[in-house]
Formats: sequence, C-alpha cells, structure tokens
Amino acid sequence: MSLETRLSDCKKDLEELCKQAGRNPQDVRLIAVSKTVGLPEVQEAIACGQFDFGENRTCMFTEKQTAFPEARWHFIGSLQSNKAHEVVGKSFLIHSLDRSSLLHELEKQAAKRNMKQDVLIEVNVSGEATKAGISPKELPAFVEEVLQCGHINCKGLMTMAPQGSLTVARKTFAGLRELSDAMQSRYGKHDNITFDELSMGMSNDYACAISEGATMVRIGRKIFSESFEQ
Ligand SMILES: *Cc1c(COP(=O)(O)O)cnc(C)c1O
Repeated sequence: MSLETRLSDCKKDLEELCKQAGRNPQDVRLIAVSKTVGLPEVQEAIACGQFDFGENRTCMFTEKQTAFPEARWHFIGSLQSNKAHEVVGKSFLIHSLDRSSLLHELEKQAAKRNMKQDVLIEVNVSGEATKAGISPKELPAFVEEVLQCGHINCKGLMTMAPQGSLTVARKTFAGLRELSDAMQSRYGKHDNITFDELSMGMSNDYACAISEGATMVRIGRKIFSESFEQ
C-alpha cells in the first residue's frame, strides 16, 4: 500500500468515525506524525494534501520545518528547556507543556521574539509514573501560572493514553475531556487561555479519542509505516 492510500484510508476512517459520533469531520484535525520518516515521505504527504505534521525531537523538527515551512509543524514530544528556543516561533502549536520550568522558558523565548506562542498543556490523566504531564490535581494551579504569562496562549489540553487496553484509553480520553470542561468553566474568561482543543488519540486508539471529543489526533504509524496493523 502506498503512503497516498494509507493517508486517504486514514482520512476516510476519521470521517466515518466523526459521522458515527455525530461530529463534524472538520472539527477533527489530523496531525501526521512524521518522526519515523525522512524528508521524501513528508514531501509525498504534502503532495497528497496533508498540511499538519508532528515531530517529537527538536533536531528533526528543525530539519523538516526548515525544509517545508509551508506546512504546519506541531511539536509533540518532551521538550528540554534549553531547547525551547528551537521551537518557539517555529511551531504552530506546542502540545507538550508539562512543567513550570518549561512554561517560564517558553514565555521568555516568546517575549524575546515579541510574539505569542500557542501551546497545549499536557496532562497525565492516567497517572502512569512513566508518563509526562501535569497531574489533574495540579492542573488548576498550573493554569493560574499560565495566566500570568503574557506571551503564551493556551489553546487546550493534550494527553497520551496507556498502551494495551482500549478500555483504559477511552477512560483516559474521557478524563481529559472532563478536566477540559472543568477548566473551561473555571478559567474560560481570560484572553490568553481557552480550552477548545483536545489533542488525544494515536494510531491504535484514535477511534475512542474521536468519540470522546478529540479535536486533534496525532497519527504516525498508520500513515507512515508499511507494516502497521490495527
Ligand atoms: C509517536 C507519537 C505519536 C504517534 O504515534 P503512532 O502510534 O505512531 O500513531 C503521537 N503522539 C506522540 C506524542 C508521539 O510521540
């Protein structure tokens, strides 16, 4: 199967899932996670009409963003504070704001460039020790810190579900949506913070994510791997 076929199958599937969930397909953005492939595959995906891409390492992010500035580049991986300057102003959206030290570095870098950086707060909904993210309990205090940062625009929340059980994944995504609703009603009246976006769902669990309200799915293997089987 060609990349073109895998990409169009994926889009059709997303549309079908949106229909089943009573949602408008235009409300779910497909982010093609290109971290395992090189420039030629990205170019091919762009030629097929793909516009949003995700990368999880700063060096690969920079290489691809520089090669294809016409596409929209999302930074989705864990970000070291000393590398924040490599993505600020280059990333359409940083999905992985997961701690105070990074928030303050992003604020500093965005201020230096006299711009506002759009971000999502990554939440560790499942509580797995190995997962990055703000714990649900600490989220309100963290949101209050974000409110103090004039060069950061928070657009919503992101999470990663534990692998292996779709039941657990669904619970995780539902948990993120509930947190988002709670944050929206508590903090929704501020200029630099909204909770419109829910970035959740990957190759093996995006179906549950869409039925639980994802507005962005981050899909890698299903698009770029020849051997991926759901
Ligand atoms: C790799 C990655 C994805 C995509 O995962 P697939 O299983 O390949 O679809 C999504 N989100 C993040 C944060 C990733 O690192």
